[in-house]
Amino acid sequence: MICGITKISLDNYRKPEYFYSGFFIMKNVDYIIVGDGYAALFFAHQLIKNNKSFVLFSEQKKSASQISAGIINPVVLKKFTTFWKAQEQIDFLKRTLNEIESYTGQNYLINAPIHRIFHDEKEKELWLKKSENDELKFFLDKNFDHLKVVKNDFYTGKVNQSARLDVNGFFVGLFGFLENQGCIIKEKFKYSDLNSSLNTYKDFSYKNILFCEGMGVRQNPFFLDIPVNANKGHHIKVNLSQPIPQNITIKKKHFLFPLNEKIYFYGGTYDRDHLHHGIDDSAVEQLKKGLSEFYPYDFSIIEANFGLRPTVKDRRPIIGKHSKFQNMYVFNGLGARGILNGCYFSKSLFDHIEKNIPLPEEVSLERFASK
Ligand SMILES: Cc1cc2nc3c(=O)[nH]c(=O)nc-3n(C[C@H](O)[C@H](O)[C@H](O)COP(=O)(O)OP(=O)(O)OC[C@H]3O[C@@H](n4cnc5c(N)ncnc54)[C@H](O)[C@@H]3O)c2cc1C
Repeated sequence: MICGITKISLDNYRKPEYFYSGFFIMKNVDYIIVGDGYAALFFAHQLIKNNKSFVLFSEQKKSASQISAGIINPVVLKKFTTFWKAQEQIDFLKRTLNEIESYTGQNYLINAPIHRIFHDEKEKELWLKKSENDELKFFLDKNFDHLKVVKNDFYTGKVNQSARLDVNGFFVGLFGFLENQGCIIKEKFKYSDLNSSLNTYKDFSYKNILFCEGMGVRQNPFFLDIPVNANKGHHIKVNLSQPIPQNITIKKKHFLFPLNEKIYFYGGTYDRDHLHHGIDDSAVEQLKKGLSEFYPYDFSIIEANFGLRPTVKDRRPIIGKHSKFQNMYVFNGLGARGILNGCYFSKSLFDHIEKNIPLPEEVSLERFASK
């Protein structure tokens, strides 16, 4: 549970190398990464840490990752259960954010624990009972807190070790770093320009190529069949007339937390059915209603945003190698836990490619092979 501080030295960090192909100058890289969300950036971190050269293609759209709330949470707050490798994933994320700090100069972890508002006495009793459980005792705090400003007649339960990622800071910091290193290409990756036999894309020559396009994978002819489904999520940014004194994350229906002194984030919704590219008024209404249920003062909506979560039926990511091209990989299906899944499994994928360590069966693309 202790997170060590590892300094990453960039002394040996390899930038793309250039060579003359006989026709034009080619750039040699160990990896091409397609995509710019959590999957892509946490994998890029593994490459930086291990002195591998790469370029990352970003089509410059707001990814689901950039719309996300940034919640880091080891507990399923409906039923008060936990999930596979929750403690390992949290510890690994904290170590990774320390490593990233050593080259961006900032730590994007915000220690603002989740407070879950109880609906009734029964829920409190269930929480207390579950807090005795071996798996949950490190996460469910036994002391209940009463919060100011919001309605919480039955008090709140604190989730220990929960936190938030400063989502905006994380993307601004990492994109800025990648730009300075010359390894971000701000354009849409065109699948038709990929020569998977020669391992080239335009004037890049690569050893491995990794696709991390989130729901954009639907356009990828190499991984058309991977079973990811979109789950649309909205959030709203609101101005609260009466600020909440503590910097915590409040959970009732959705998550509420401050972005700065005046503006708060509330979200996100879940919708598998209405997947058109635009804001759904009904989702915004749902958020307005959800917030009014526990925030008894006036608030105004400043903006609403949406993103598509790439989800998988068994709620596990999908990581794997193309059946024909042995240096082509996919990293997708991060679901509602993009931060923990993206961070933790980027190392599993790196170790698989570079050290031949098998992927855990639970996340391997091969689990769908015979279905
Ligand atoms: C409202 C909402 C709230 C959420 N809250 C949380 C939360 O609190 N905590 C949490 O852990 N998770 C949260 N999530 C889930 C999380 O955001 C997703 O799991 C995660 O964003 C998926 O990351 P990804 O990198 O796979 O895909 P994405 O974030 O979608 O990134 C893929 C990127 O690849 C780009 N791309 C695609 N094709 C190409 C191409 N051909 N060329 C160049 N670029 C391309 C896309 O434009 C996109 O920017 C939330 C999601 C939503 C929608």
